Order: sequence, then C-alpha cells, then structure tokens
Amino acid sequence: MQGNCIFCKINAGEIPSATVYEDENFKVIMDISPAAKGHMIMLSKRHCANLLELDDESAASALIIARKLARALKEELNCDGINLVQNNGEASGQTVFHFHIHLIPRYDNDQMSLGWTPGKYEDGEAATFAAALAARL
Ligand code: 5GP
Ligand code: ZN
Repeated sequence: MQGNCIFCKINAGEIPSATVYEDENFKVIMDISPAAKGHMIMLSKRHCANLLELDDESAASALIIARKLARALKEELNCDGINLVQNNGEASGQTVFHFHIHLIPRYDNDQMSLGWTPGKYEDGEAATFAAALAARL
C-alpha cells in the first residue's frame, strides 16, 4: 500500500468502487470515466507503478482474468470488439501510477480512437531491433 495512491485506497476499500471481481492478485472495477459503458480496469492488489515492476504471480494470472472479463463483456453487452489497454509511464498516457489493465468494449463505427500512424523500417532495421531486444531477454 502506498499512502497517496488512489488505486491502493480503492483496493483497501477506503474509496468506494463498483467492483466486478476480486481475488488475491487483482480487483476489477468499473472505470469512473469510461471510454464506453462497461469499461473496466483491473488493479493489481500489490502496489507497483507499472508492468515493469509487476510480480510474477500477478503477471501470470492477469490474462486468465482478462479473458474471463472479456467473455463477460461480450455476453453482457454483445459488443463487436474489446480492447485491452495497459499504459506504462506518462509518455504512454498513464495517469495513475499503479499497475492496471483497461478492458474497453468496442462497437462497429464507434469512432473511438486508440490508433497510431503506421511507420516503416529501413531494410534490415527490424532485424537489428529484434536482435538487440532478444539479447536483453
Ligand atoms: P491510465 O490513464 O492511468 O491508464 O488510466 C487511469 C484510469 O483510472 C482512467 O481511465 C480513470 O478514469 C480511472 N480512474 C481514476 N480515478 C479513479 C477512481 O477513483 N475510481 C475509478 N473507478 N476509476 C478511476
Ligand atoms: Zn497503489
């Protein structure tokens, strides 16, 4: 628990939230300012700023829970698609520095924008990046 962290306070029940799911690793709540109705956020139970700091146990269980939630979203809202969004660092758009994953229901032609302009690599550049990154694993 980090004293000033709003998501730690939600985990502790000090700030109320509309809760969907809870276990030893995650609490899942409705986002207070949803991108679309049904938008949920999965908060790690242990405070860490972002994915780079996430513990193994939470990392291992995260996608199993996300899959459950995605199926529930599809069944309940009959949405056409679902985005999982997970921001790390201010540059990425992160505003609350406690690890979380967004699940956002999407609809055909909903005009929501989560996109980027596709770039391109010079010849051989992608392979150079791949090798450099692989060397750091
Ligand atoms: P980020 O930009 O850090 O990936 O997303 C933070 C998210 O937390 C935002 O979508 C924001 O609406 C949500 N949020 C911030 N404060 C609260 C809160 O007090 N309660 C709930 N339910 N969501 C919050
Ligand atoms: Zn926290």
